Amino acid sequence: MAPLTLVTGASRGIGAACVLALARAGHDLVVNYSRDAAAAASVAEQVRALGRRALVVQADVADEAAVLAMFARIDAELGPLTGLVNNAGIVAMKARLDEMDVARWQRMWAVNLTGSLLCAREAVRRMSTRHGGNGGAIVNLSSAAAKLGAPANYIDYAASKGAIDTFTLGLARELAAEGVRVNAVRPGIIDTDIHASGGDPDRARQSAGLIPMGRAGSADEVAAAILWLLSDASSYTTGSVVDVTGGR
Ligand code: NAP
Repeated sequence: MAPLTLVTGASRGIGAACVLALARAGHDLVVNYSRDAAAAASVAEQVRALGRRALVVQADVADEAAVLAMFARIDAELGPLTGLVNNAGIVAMKARLDEMDVARWQRMWAVNLTGSLLCAREAVRRMSTRHGGNGGAIVNLSSAAAKLGAPANYIDYAASKGAIDTFTLGLARELAAEGVRVNAVRPGIIDTDIHASGGDPDRARQSAGLIPMGRAGSADEVAAAILWLLSDASSYTTGSVVDVTGGR
C-alpha cells in the first residue's frame, strides 16, 4: 500500500509544493483547501498525472464539523491515513499590538492553532497504535517568526507559531512509543502569496538583505524538508523543529 498523506491548505504555496513532492515520492494525497476549489483541483490533477491517487476535500481547518467530515471521507474513500502535514495557516495585515482587535486574534488562533490540533487529533485517532493504527508521521508548519517575534508586523501570528513549536514537542513525546513521529519545519521568508495577505506582496523579494543567504526561499525548498520528516529516512527524529530559513 502506498503511504497516504493529508496536506491541509494545499491549493497553493508550500502546501501545493509539498503535495507534488510527496506524489513524486510515491504518496497518495488528500488535497485540502478552504476557498479556491479550482486551484485545489489543479493540484490534484498534477498528482494524478504523476500516477498517484488524489482526493480533494474542502474544509476550513478551524471548523470541527468540517474537519470530522473530511476525515470520514478519507476513511471511506482512500484510508488508512499514514501522514499529516498541518500546513494551513494565515497571517493578517501588518500591525502593532496596540492596533489589533480580538476578532483578528480569535481567527488567528482558530486556524493556526486549533486547526492544527484538530487535524492532529483526528490523525492520531487513526494512526496511533494505541487506537489500533499502524503508526505514521505528522509535520507541523511553524515559522521563523516564532523565534523572531515579528515586531510591528504580526506578533499574534508569531505567538501562534510559538505555540506550534510547543505543541510539536509535547505531542511528539506523547506519541513516541505509539508509532507516530511528530516534527515541525520553521520556514523563514518564502516566496508565496501569504505576504500579499499581510498587505506586503513584495515582501519575499524585498527581504533579501535580512537573510544570510541573501534570498528568499522557495516553497519547493520547504517541501523537501517536510518530505524528509515524513519519510523513513528520519525514523529516529521526533519532537524536532527544522529551520528552513537561509540562515536567518
Ligand atoms: P499561502 O500561500 O497563503 O497558502 C495558504 C494555503 O492555506 C492556501 O492553500 C489556503 O487555501 C489554505 N488555507 C487558508 N486558510 C485555511 C483554512 N482555514 N482551512 C484550510 N485551508 C486554509 O501560505 P504559504 O506561504 O504557503 O504558507 C503555508 C504555511 O507555512 C502556513 O502555515 C504559514 O504560516 C507557514 N509559513 C509560511 C512562510 C512564508 O514566508 N510563506 C513562512 C513561515 C511559515 P485557499 O486559498 O483555498 O483558502
